[in-house]
Amino acid sequence: MTSDRPDVTGLSARARDIAASADALAAAIGAFEEDLRSADDEPVRRTGFRCDAATGSVHRAARELLDTAADLDRIATAAAPGTCSIPWGACPAHGNTLTSTGGKTWCRHLGCDRTWDYDRGGLPCTEPARWMVTDQHGAGGVMCTGHGKDARERLLGATIVPLEASRSASARGEGASAVAPEESKRP
Ligand SMILES: [Zn+2]
Ligand SMILES: [Zn+2]
Repeated sequence: MTSDRPDVTGLSARARDIAASADALAAAIGAFEEDLRSADDEPVRRTGFRCDAATGSVHRAARELLDTAADLDRIATAAAPGTCSIPWGACPAHGNTLTSTGGKTWCRHLGCDRTWDYDRGGLPCTEPARWMVTDQHGAGGVMCTGHGKDARERLLGATIVPLEASRSASARGEGASAVAPEESKRP
């Protein structure tokens, strides 16, 4: 599955490079606007009125590209060894309880106040794998706490065993290095 993956880290770096170029462009537009507005000739000064909008558009473009880079970083994290195998996100505590809109995600579980500032449900899961789940046909994969909980509730006849039983401490350390910024929002 992972062999035909594009160089996600390289794509993320490109998105950040383009964002940096956009920031430089915004700075150049700002300097140009200053020159226009300090001109002696009134008609020339008035031509500067579009520059604010132009700077704002370019800043927005930079932000969109940085958000794109962050999504690519999450995809790279999700592909790291020791990470949950499910190709969509979950609440770390409650499983498939996410709702996303407008680039924000929250957990619908009553009393859960977890939120994420990206479309978590639309990206592969970045949580560390905690369970080996095998369905009644023998198919399966490693899953995080949230997805494992969900599988336990939905997959009739599935076998769910903790990875701790079979995994060395060093392998666990590898999984834990997959950075999940949303971890900080845990109570
Ligand atoms: Zn939750
Ligand atoms: Zn998961």
